[in-house]
Amino acid sequence: MTTLNEFSSCVAQYDPQAMPVSAAQAIVRQWATPVSAVEHVPLHDALDRVLAADIVSPSDVPAHDNSAMDGYAFRSAALASQVDSVELTLAGKALAGHPFGGAVAVTECVRVMTGASMPADCDTVVPQELVTRSGETIRFAASAVRDGANRRLAGEDLARGSAALRAGRVLRPSDLGLIASLGIGEVPVRRRLRVAFFSTGDELRSLGEPLDPGCVYDSNRHTLFAMLQRMNIDALDLGVVRDQPAALEAALRSAAASADVVLTSGGVSVGEADFTQQLLQTFGDVAFWSLAMRPGRPLAFGRVWSGERPGLGLPALFFGLPGNPVAVMVTFYQIVREALVVMSGATPQPAALLQATSRELIRKRAGRTEFQRGVATRDARGQWHVTPTPSQSSGVLSSMSEANCFIVLEHERSDITAGESVDIMLFDGLI
Ligand code: AMP
Ligand code: MG
Repeated sequence: MTTLNEFSSCVAQYDPQAMPVSAAQAIVRQWATPVSAVEHVPLHDALDRVLAADIVSPSDVPAHDNSAMDGYAFRSAALASQVDSVELTLAGKALAGHPFGGAVAVTECVRVMTGASMPADCDTVVPQELVTRSGETIRFAASAVRDGANRRLAGEDLARGSAALRAGRVLRPSDLGLIASLGIGEVPVRRRLRVAFFSTGDELRSLGEPLDPGCVYDSNRHTLFAMLQRMNIDALDLGVVRDQPAALEAALRSAAASADVVLTSGGVSVGEADFTQQLLQTFGDVAFWSLAMRPGRPLAFGRVWSGERPGLGLPALFFGLPGNPVAVMVTFYQIVREALVVMSGATPQPAALLQATSRELIRKRAGRTEFQRGVATRDARGQWHVTPTPSQSSGVLSSMSEANCFIVLEHERSDITAGESVDIMLFDGLI
């Protein structure tokens, strides 16, 4: 068995105690393998699910040429034969769902409503606003329309046999409409990824419990649950585990038995009650346990098994997130999220970064990537500006609620002066 540890040590810039963010992301991506099971679900249950196979169009959409306007359909040859004004005789009408079945001579036209099938031989529609009608005679200026105007072609939306949607797509409302327009009511999707998570710490209390002196309420489980829920992941809350090696080992093994990925928070630094890293070295496989990143320096990544030794029982990827609530969110979005996307079977999309001007001096040390919390605004000229939130402490969760973006400060960069350009990652669409 190739261990993660062996693999990771071959990655450029490998340093298990201060792994650059880009190297950590590359290692994590390498070990994220998509779930393979496929389910068939009705369209109403398919939103945000990951498409498991291409959806191929069984027919042209629309199925027939049809009118894009309320007006009169005719043969474009009529335009050439009549110089200034065109005069046609009404031969019948076609409504959406009620086609006109007869033949149409070049001197004739058919009243058509939007969406009605084009009558045989007709290729052009003149909108009703541009005609004058007296009895059965329709007149309009020859310059009013060009050949083929106001006609939607069969297959214009989707051609028969073409892939309407590709496997790996996370289904959106428009996709569900598109699939329905093909007459398909059920779609193949990957089974949902299962992620088990728990918090570690003797000081943690769950909601509803009294807050003893020196204790804090466990907030990380609630942020984690919500972040997983947003990604439509099957999230399994395993509660709080005390800072005891035996309890932690049992929790990790039972988590590995029931999920594809295990997330924990707390206990990954090198304090006296931080056992996770130690445990992982003996019965798991660790790639790295510390990142050149702020917040989020202590972060363990590896694999765990449900059995007694590495390689025994069911495997799961493991992320030991820091305990500080902001660091949990930052490491989730910057390191964990992409792995979960890939494991869900979806095609990952690069995070959209915008350029903004910093309104303030930002203190930054070279040699680590920082994800500061910022408030970004767009001025009248469309230029983005950003101000860091007053607190950048990794324990101050209100800074995440106050912010609307991460300010991404690259590894090599040092202090940023006011007016300098920085990359920002907006929470909208990410969080
Ligand atoms: P640790 O990494 O375990 O030393 O935790 C770092 C800090 O984060 C400590 O102040 C913990 O009390 C706090 N912390 C750890 N886990 C949680 C949690 N689940 N909810 C809120 N705060 C936490
Ligand atoms: Mg702790």
